[in-house]
Amino acid sequence: MTDLQIAQSVQEQHIRDIAAKLNISEENLEYYGNNKAKLPLSLINEDKVNSNNLILVTAITPTPAGEGKTTVSIGLGDGLNYIGKKAMTVLREPSLGPVFGIKGGAAGGGHSQVIPMVDINLHFTGDFPAIEKANNLLAALIDNNIQSKGRSLGIDPRTVLWKRCMDMNDRALRNIVAALGGKAGGVPNETGFNITAASEIMAILCLSKDFEDLQLKCGNIYVGDTFDGQPVYARDLNAQGAMAVLLREAIKPNLVQTLEGNPALIHGGPFANIAQGTNSILATKMGLSLSDYVVTEAGFGADLGAEKFLNIKCREAGFSPKTVVLVATIRALKYHGGKPLDELTNEDTAALKAGLPNLERHIESLKSFGIPVVVAVNAFGSDTEAEKELLINHCSSMGIPVAISNGWADGGKGCAELAEKVVEAVAGCKSTFRPTYNLEDTLLTKIEKICTNIYGASDVELSAKARRQLKRFEDLGYSKLPVCMAKTQKSLSDNDKLLGRPENFSIHIRELEIAAGAGFVIPIAGNMLRMPGLPATPASENITIDKDGNITGLF
Ligand code: ADP
Ligand code: MG
Repeated sequence: MTDLQIAQSVQEQHIRDIAAKLNISEENLEYYGNNKAKLPLSLINEDKVNSNNLILVTAITPTPAGEGKTTVSIGLGDGLNYIGKKAMTVLREPSLGPVFGIKGGAAGGGHSQVIPMVDINLHFTGDFPAIEKANNLLAALIDNNIQSKGRSLGIDPRTVLWKRCMDMNDRALRNIVAALGGKAGGVPNETGFNITAASEIMAILCLSKDFEDLQLKCGNIYVGDTFDGQPVYARDLNAQGAMAVLLREAIKPNLVQTLEGNPALIHGGPFANIAQGTNSILATKMGLSLSDYVVTEAGFGADLGAEKFLNIKCREAGFSPKTVVLVATIRALKYHGGKPLDELTNEDTAALKAGLPNLERHIESLKSFGIPVVVAVNAFGSDTEAEKELLINHCSSMGIPVAISNGWADGGKGCAELAEKVVEAVAGCKSTFRPTYNLEDTLLTKIEKICTNIYGASDVELSAKARRQLKRFEDLGYSKLPVCMAKTQKSLSDNDKLLGRPENFSIHIRELEIAAGAGFVIPIAGNMLRMPGLPATPASENITIDKDGNITGLF
């Protein structure tokens, strides 16, 4: 059965009944149909946020074989409920554009899914469109200011950094010339579109603590420079109020359910390459206010996802996870060990052994945060007993608790052992996490600490441009911000091709960007696409709908 068929075979519960399991009264539900509801921010209880248990799910370096973080996160949430705990999974909302490319859905898989999966993967509750509108309002206000004589701020159109956005993989919009058509059409300028998930508004929404903070952060967006070289912020255009109003519903977390009828929250979806890659602070707080255990996921491997989750999001929100679950698959480890993609289903303990250093490096990095680590082996049908035994023994020899996660095949029951180990690790967590760097460190020191302590690099090399930008950001007063690294997810290094555990490499920072609204500096190693394209044969070609509205080919 496909993921969609499994999702459609389950009897969905009314969202009112899911809310009742969390003791949320009906007047606190803002319904979006029968199976989705927004929750008011008034349900957040800071005491519970501090006392309940946050669990982060992250993974080894991603490979084309797939690791299954979302699937394990949902399975673990169901598994915790299965063993009698009050738990919920809190996830990002998938981006719509990639659904029509090659990616498929991002609402879990097999018997570990959140539903309604079609809605969650497509328009859902309209949060992404609201983010797009807030983003594009600012773009329109900038162009309008350049056009208007009377109230001009003197913005130099060539320095404008702000782009428009849309939730579609459309490479034709990546670089464009706008405002053509003569005087009435504005001042022509070179610009482009980002995909919505890569816009700074998405990052802002996910780091905001309330409506006021959202408005303040929108005002802090760095738009570009005047002809005199002075910075211009969104607040100089008085844009922040209207932007925050456009986001007033989007800021509220969305309640849905898993296939097993357990509550789940889906909210926010910043990319993990150029942004923080984790769901919103508010959804995490909401989960912790309503549930004893909250399972959440960070995008890509632990070098990007977990590092940013801890150093950016947790520091900003004052969270400290009690356990980090590191997802590994035998297939992906064999790939890191040099086995070709089309042979991963064949037993090969030698390749598995050769791939283990990638897992070890991530365990070492995660240990540097000083919180417990549990390895979850996401089981695939092709895994053999010999391979499982080797992996389990290896983790045990490192003193790391490990469990096979069978959530894809068996739902919560298949994750019971993992849930037990996680509960034990949570109970044993005695301290808050230790960040990789201090906010007082210089920007360069922050970058160096991440590269050496998390990636295992020997040093960092900055281009001349990156050095100039670093100086400029320091002069503008941004030296106390955290850094949000933009690096390939495919390797611990900045070279896609280096699998496993690369040694003796440098990280090359080509340029930097500032997300002054979200509150981080983005050092960029390599080329980061903010607007993806479609493959030659897009997944959209197989999607159909019949006269009764039944969908096929979506996932
Ligand atoms: P991630 O969150 O790491 O990107 P997902 O959980 O979204 O990964 O899983 C990626 C894909 O792999 C999904 O299509 C999912 O159905 C599939 N998948 C995950 N775990 C398994 C498994 N144990 N067996 C088979 N397919 C799986
Ligand atoms: Mg995922």
